[in-house]
Amino acid sequence: MIQMKTPVVEIDGDEMTRVLWAVVKDKLLTPFVDLKSEYYDLGIENRDKTDDKVTTEAADAVKRLGVGVKCATITSNEARKVEYNLKSLHPSPNATLRAILDGTVFRKPIKVSCIKSSVSTWEKPIVIGRHAYGDIYKNAEMRIPGAGKVELVYTNTDGVEERLLVADMPGAGIVQGVHNLDESIRNFARSCFFYAINEKLPVWFAAKDTISKTYDGRFKDIFNEVYETEFKAKYGASGISYFYTLIDDAVARVVKGQGGFLWACKNYDGDVMSDMLASASGSLAMMTSVLVSPSGVFEYEAAHGTVQQHFYRYKKGEKTSTNPVALIFAWTGALAKRGELDGLPELTAFAKKLEKATLQTIENGFMTGDLARLAKQEKILDSWEFIDKIAEHL
Ligand code: NAP
Ligand code: MG
Repeated sequence: MIQMKTPVVEIDGDEMTRVLWAVVKDKLLTPFVDLKSEYYDLGIENRDKTDDKVTTEAADAVKRLGVGVKCATITSNEARKVEYNLKSLHPSPNATLRAILDGTVFRKPIKVSCIKSSVSTWEKPIVIGRHAYGDIYKNAEMRIPGAGKVELVYTNTDGVEERLLVADMPGAGIVQGVHNLDESIRNFARSCFFYAINEKLPVWFAAKDTISKTYDGRFKDIFNEVYETEFKAKYGASGISYFYTLIDDAVARVVKGQGGFLWACKNYDGDVMSDMLASASGSLAMMTSVLVSPSGVFEYEAAHGTVQQHFYRYKKGEKTSTNPVALIFAWTGALAKRGELDGLPELTAFAKKLEKATLQTIENGFMTGDLARLAKQEKILDSWEFIDKIAEHL
């Protein structure tokens, strides 16, 4: 039995991923590792019961212990409020965690030889670094009931006001205010350049500064400044580069390119582009995702959601063929990092072996339906059979 020193922060979630979370632990982790975890139940019912305090407590625990692992969670909306009989709607747990940890999310496709990317020119993985603070994920929005003036008002700490007209609205409509912080953008740029130099990858950053001259322009300027003052010398020596372009140009280049770079994306671009990348690389479940905070805290998670439709089928008694690979890699990422930080090489080695066993299981022809479709393979395993096969390989 492999021993641990410091616990990982275990953040449980919802629906199909919650079901598989327990199976992964039971079959692939606890038989080998004397698992130490500090458990937070972020299932939607417990978030509602605790008025979402449990989410903040989980984030604080990740800050304190340094490594967390998170299951997918429901972001509540009106339909979920009815479905789960909730007291109130709460913000997305991921948005709350990201805001508290102020980190950058890095997402990288998990490659297996039997599944080819649908973009034939991609030879190397593309890693997405997603800014995890602000923009529409921390917006203030309003429905405007009828004609009137909408303004931005900034009041400084001395009470002095500055105003800017957003629109003289001739009728009903909508308005939204978004913000970001120089310090958060600077930390985002730093995390990306650090990650890239570690992995020996060039960095691309893209925004829309031709249209959004002040907002996106600020992102562009800060990236440039961080690169010039903190990284250019190191990058010159390592032979890797930094490249800025407009977001639409970046998308065109990504699809025509060979891959093999870190694509630093603003929050929304990262949300959208990481799903595009994951789907093009195979499946949403074939992607690792880690939130790295500038203070050196790591939270590993799956990039996909709670796989709601599969859960409804599971509740009717079906053994679904939901792919658990991203959940497994969230755990291996966290355990490998814990091993590295605590000086436990056997824990890190176990995590790497579990990753290898997972990939070999797929390459030997045992897989869930999402992958079988892509690999043109007839035999489909349900999640339980697939996890058992991984355990056998392990
Ligand atoms: P989803 O869970 O990502 O699933 C969308 C579809 O993608 C599924 O119906 C399934 O397609 C496929 N898929 C995703 N993960 C899969 C897996 N592991 N194995 C096989 N197929 C997989 O998104 P959703 O159903 O639209 O959202 C459900 C809930 O998740 C929502 O309440 C949302 O708020 C939440 N969410 C959470 C996170 C997070 O916590 N990180 C992220 C996104 C969404 P088929 O039906 O074709 O098999
Ligand atoms: Mg998303």
